[in-house]
Amino acid sequence: MLDGNPRLNLASFVTTWMEPECDRLIMAAVNKNYVDMDEYPVTTELQNRCVNMIAHLFNAPIGDDETAVGVGTVGSSEAIMLAGLAFKRRWQNKRRAEGKPIDKPNIVTGANVQVCWEKFARYFEVELKEVRLRDGYYVMDPEKAVELVDENTICVAAILGSTLTGEFEDVKRLNDLLTEKNKETGWDTPIHVDAASGGFIAPFLYPELEWDFRLPLVKSINVSGHKYGLVYAGVGWVVWRSKEDLPEELIFHINYLGADQPTFTLNFSKGSSQIIAQYYQFIRLGFEGYKNIMENCMENARVLKEGIEKTGKFDILSKDVGVPLVAFSLKDGGTYTVFEISESLRRFGWIVPAYTMPPNAEHVAVLRVVIREDFSRSLAERLVTDLAKVLAEFDVRASRVKTTVAHVTTAERSNGDGDATVVKKSVIETQREITAFWRKLVDRKKTSGVC
Ligand SMILES: *Cc1c(COP(=O)(O)O)cnc(C)c1O
Repeated sequence: MLDGNPRLNLASFVTTWMEPECDRLIMAAVNKNYVDMDEYPVTTELQNRCVNMIAHLFNAPIGDDETAVGVGTVGSSEAIMLAGLAFKRRWQNKRRAEGKPIDKPNIVTGANVQVCWEKFARYFEVELKEVRLRDGYYVMDPEKAVELVDENTICVAAILGSTLTGEFEDVKRLNDLLTEKNKETGWDTPIHVDAASGGFIAPFLYPELEWDFRLPLVKSINVSGHKYGLVYAGVGWVVWRSKEDLPEELIFHINYLGADQPTFTLNFSKGSSQIIAQYYQFIRLGFEGYKNIMENCMENARVLKEGIEKTGKFDILSKDVGVPLVAFSLKDGGTYTVFEISESLRRFGWIVPAYTMPPNAEHVAVLRVVIREDFSRSLAERLVTDLAKVLAEFDVRASRVKTTVAHVTTAERSNGDGDATVVKKSVIETQREITAFWRKLVDRKKTSGVC
């Protein structure tokens, strides 16, 4: 009860609203353990169908001898651990066969990676080589990434939809540059695409954009079912281009509950609901349904962006092509920070995160609003109104500080004349102004409950 309101939580990409039918479906399956595949074979079938649909969505090659493989996970984090392990094991096997050392694996990413990559690196002992960001460029630079690649690089991880700004990294350029480098060196460094948020955006909004299995070096892709896959928290997916990209020794065959079941996950038991709900969403919405929802999100992001731009106080960092979100920073010279704005918006119920960028752009502090399916146009407009109120308050505060300073100067100057009345009046006036302003705010708030 003392938590924030999930639908006003604009910090998160994770789904906070599903149709009532979905809620019922989830409750109906809440007592099924996903891992009991023999007991719940239909659930296993639904997960396989989901993998199939996602592999198609990501343009996995489908020749006679080609089969993509994939698995449902708890989220993109688990998916990334699995994909990372597969790369590490493949690299080790190859190096071992060549009689080369296998003690120093590394992975190349941008400094903008989500924390789960750092987790993967630390938990599974792989060095993370990060391409630094720079002012005005907040994603991994493909040229610099390829420069960092060496014989110990297990893969380069590109992000489709940077967590910080929603921007898509240039996977095609990365693929081209890396192909060249592989040719020169004789290595075969592959690419993983972390499409946690962008994986359910790009296929619908930018079908021509080549970021997926159309690029030969892309060997695996993860996506969060619980982000723009439109399911509540607890489901993600990872798909490999082919069986060869997933070393057989990582797959466990469990048979104590019945027939042979291959599994490749980090944990054993988990709920079935999210998988069933994912299948429901795919069938219920279809390609057109997802496309409509994503277009709507984009349109609301545009409305919000324009409203924020109109205040004249912010620079917009997010791009028009990308994940539907608005990331914005304060123009220079203000008397307040994005952190204070975030804090003040909390009073209206809005949860808008503020953070600084990773190296070497730490001096840039941003606010970020993620647009989800349940963030309507009217909420976007309301947020702009509330943001304007917060800015106006800060401006009043700033001018009060200035008035006090001015008043002190006047007092000092008027010391000899003994003319103190002017000074007193201006203080009272200012106080009245502030009181009136606050009263207006409070009155207005009574009549304008959000949601
Ligand atoms: C959200 C996110 C993750 C982590 O995904 P979960 O599904 O929350 O585990 C990883 N990478 C990126 C780019 C993300 O946006």
